[in-house]
Amino acid sequence: MATTPALSEDLLAKYEPVIGLEVHVQLLTASKIFCSCSTRFGDPPNTNVCPVCLGLPGALPVLNRKAVEFAALAAMALECRINEVSIFARKNYFYPDLPKGYQISQYDKPLAEFGFIDIDLNGGKKKIGITRLHLEEDAGKSLHEGFADSAHKTAIDLNRTGVPLAEIVSEPDMRSPEEAYEYLTRLKEIILYTGVSDCNMEEGSLRCDANISVRRRGQKEFGTKTEIKNVNSFRFVKQALEYEIERQIEVLESGGKITQESRLYNANEGKTYGMRSKEQAHDYRYFPEPDLLPLVVDEKWQAAIRASLPELPEARRQRMMNDYGITASDAHTLTLTRAMADQFESAARTAKNPKRVANLVQSELLGRLKAQGLELEQSPISMAGVTASADLVESGAISGKMLKDLYDLCFERKQDFPALYEAEGRPEQSRDTSALEKLADELIAANPKQVEQYRAGKKTMIGFFVGQVMKASKGQANPQLANEVLTKKLEG
Ligand code: ADP
Ligand code: ZN
Ligand code: MG
Repeated sequence: MATTPALSEDLLAKYEPVIGLEVHVQLLTASKIFCSCSTRFGDPPNTNVCPVCLGLPGALPVLNRKAVEFAALAAMALECRINEVSIFARKNYFYPDLPKGYQISQYDKPLAEFGFIDIDLNGGKKKIGITRLHLEEDAGKSLHEGFADSAHKTAIDLNRTGVPLAEIVSEPDMRSPEEAYEYLTRLKEIILYTGVSDCNMEEGSLRCDANISVRRRGQKEFGTKTEIKNVNSFRFVKQALEYEIERQIEVLESGGKITQESRLYNANEGKTYGMRSKEQAHDYRYFPEPDLLPLVVDEKWQAAIRASLPELPEARRQRMMNDYGITASDAHTLTLTRAMADQFESAARTAKNPKRVANLVQSELLGRLKAQGLELEQSPISMAGVTASADLVESGAISGKMLKDLYDLCFERKQDFPALYEAEGRPEQSRDTSALEKLADELIAANPKQVEQYRAGKKTMIGFFVGQVMKASKGQANPQLANEVLTKKLEG
């Protein structure tokens, strides 16, 4: 957990945080952005390299068309405007993992601008502006540990050099660590839906730099920001921001000044540390990349890319709520991944009652998955299996209690529901009504007032009696059968 210097509520309330995020996502192309080397993760170090990505003199970059299409698709999903002409630029700096001595990026003419993401905020919505999305190449990796004889040594792996990145820069529109967390969650979800990146944070396919400043509430101008570099989980971004807000307030309250700098977050300590004073844009001596032509994505190409844009999570949630009568919370769970939503929809189209399918996912599936530390994709019960079980409950063939037991068995044996149901000999709940009849008689005798109301025309009273039966049978009774038996007796 983050250990934050405990500031009083009053002091915290005096300041307003301002946050802007820079997110890098690796694009899932098979080859690098300017050469044909493989982008595969985890290959032996320095095996996927060539004169171009090693930056050997005289080697010339050739732009990967797929990288452009992926970046443009992501930009469209983020509601950005695509610039028909964008320019690659050299960003010059020295670092051991950057053999060329410059990174090919985009500067004053990026691929896309003026986008936004809607985030959810306690029921309401807030638009977070996206300043720009540009294409650039990744740098290599410095390894400080985990290889033979690593004491006081650093090794360089250049396999990552030249892997295509989309950098997505937000406006300084966020006002709390929670908003930043929400923005990142939505951003990742959208990118995953487009399929242009796997957004795997452990493998570094999604990386976030968080910019943060504080200002006195009511003050117009922004304060000086610091930049927390390369935090590797959204939870840590939130914690790092929480810490940094308090640190900055303390500095200001004690009469100090915030220096514009890059900081590192130490998740073990829950603290940020100054790393280096932040470069200004002019330190990089940007200039147009002379080895690459301006990138032209004309209207025709844009239209072709746009045609491959899938339905995005927010729109899909709304539509699914309408189509299947499910709640916002159901829709949220069922759209967590695109695969999941696809599976649910193909199952729901054939289900007797799609709402029950959604309910079962929430009430019976997720808890069991969580208990075993499984993701939805790893569930032994497929969406088709959930649908089959929902239909059995719907028709009264099995009770809710039986379903729970069968689900337990599915998890125990790692078997999907239809197969397990077969293996168990297609059990059905008893349609023997004698016990039910007896219970119904007792209930009718014990509740004369309700019987009277029912017979006076208040037919909804049947719900009360069915409820009593379910209670008395501890959920074992078949509600449909109970309904039939009770109706007959009450009418009789
Ligand atoms: P730099 O040139 O230092 O990289 P940019 O203007 O490119 O700064 O902004 C980088 C990121 O920092 C953007 O996401 C932007 O929204 C955010 N940002 C800019 N100014 C501030 C500020 N005063 N406080 C917090 N975030 C800021
Ligand atoms: Zn290469
Ligand atoms: Mg910048």
